[in-house]
Amino acid sequence: MRSPIDTHCADPNCQQPIRFGAWCYYHPETGALCLECGVKRGMSNKHRVKQLIESFELKEGLNALKKEVKTELQTLSDLKQHIDLYKLGERHIQLQQQKEKLYNMINDYLKNVATQDETKAITQMQQTIFETTKLQEEIREKIRKGLLERMKQKKKKKKTVAQ
Ligand SMILES: [Zn+2]
Repeated sequence: MRSPIDTHCADPNCQQPIRFGAWCYYHPETGALCLECGVKRGMSNKHRVKQLIESFELKEGLNALKKEVKTELQTLSDLKQHIDLYKLGERHIQLQQQKEKLYNMINDYLKNVATQDETKAITQMQQTIFETTKLQEEIREKIRKGLLERMKQKKKKKKTVAQ
């Protein structure tokens, strides 16, 4: 798990610092053990640790991504008139890149370390990514239309001024 405090490895021969949020074996009574000491003590093998970290990070990444897409949609429906569409478009590209990164990570994971059960869970995650992609298509379309609309309005205003 991630360390809930700033601490040191409880192994007397190690005692390396474990920062808040770092991966470790943590128990409220015995304190934190760094990953290496945990593996040495047979808490799990290195391979398994790597698996768990990766699958956890994938889930965290995906959750963050879902939240952002939701916020993006919310912004669109809340502030139709006043949002900065260019800025939103930029953010949209960033999200797209994040998603591709996440997707590649998942493929790597599937190829290299996933067990059968994990493969099933991950396939569901991929499904969710496809769904966010659909939402993002919608967002992109709205941004495009919104920008077109604004350009038209600006042209109209200019004409009015000229007359
Ligand atoms: Zn240690």
